[in-house]
Amino acid sequence: MLMGQPIAIAIHGGAGNIRPENLPPDRAQKVEAYMREVVEEAYLLLQQGRMAIEVVEVAVRRLEDAGYFNAGTGAVPNERGEVELDAAIMDGHTRRAGAVAAVRQVRNPITLARYVMERTSHVLIVGAGADSLAQLWNLPLRNGIETPSEVPWSYGTVGAVALDKHGNLAAATSTGGIMHKKAGRVGDTPLIGAGTYAENGVVAVSATGQGEYFIRSVLAYDIAARIRYAKQPLREAVLQAFAERLEPIGGQGGVIALSPAGEVFLHFNTPGMYRAAINASGHRIVGIFR
Ligand code: ASP
Repeated sequence: MLMGQPIAIAIHGGAGNIRPENLPPDRAQKVEAYMREVVEEAYLLLQQGRMAIEVVEVAVRRLEDAGYFNAGTGAVPNERGEVELDAAIMDGHTRRAGAVAAVRQVRNPITLARYVMERTSHVLIVGAGADSLAQLWNLPLRNGIETPSEVPWSYGTVGAVALDKHGNLAAATSTGGIMHKKAGRVGDTPLIGAGTYAENGVVAVSATGQGEYFIRSVLAYDIAARIRYAKQPLREAVLQAFAERLEPIGGQGGVIALSPAGEVFLHFNTPGMYRAAINASGHRIVGIFR
């Protein structure tokens, strides 16, 4: 299996109070099957030599389109009943990044984030300015997508991290934010270093959970800094970032993290996290609960 350069992919569909008693088994099975499909497709693209940055975008777009998650089509409204979406993408090769926040009209915020990275000299564009770029660039809009009034299964953010054949890492994250958020509230997802980070030779991270705590912990970058400067192994870096930075202030959530060698570590301190991965040895993981 291990021939040539390692490749690996991991995705999440949000962390939270996800327990077997809250999630009907047929629903759990459907979501698991969907996540399995998404990682298998992404893995195939990586086997074909596609770049990590493309693969994380494709994977997150599939998760945004699923309707199962609080992102893209399935996003939950804020306290005014409006949907405001955040997303970010980062290329570990160049450390280029693109992000959008509080966008309302675009169907796939992750694609808009990628276009911000590739077609502008900016990193983060918010609100009406970002929505008008989506129109300018002819991206599909949310028109006609009903905002679900009650989304009992819709948890958090979706995200992906990938390692391609060329040794590039990339990360992407997309969300409708937290339930009942104030209009204009922006979480960790579109903030580089908080909810999303990738750097070749170091790590790729996508986070989910109570964004305010991830921002205050600069969690994704804290993990990267431990690996880069303190030379901590992936697992230890993630566990210590949670134990020393996130948890002392009361933060709850999870991350998917990927090393340059294709080691995958999926960690959460909530009852559940929707997750799936294929690591460098081809080992498959799909899960929801602890
Ligand atoms: N982290 C996201 C936010 O705070 C929400 C989530 O992951 O559930 O916007």
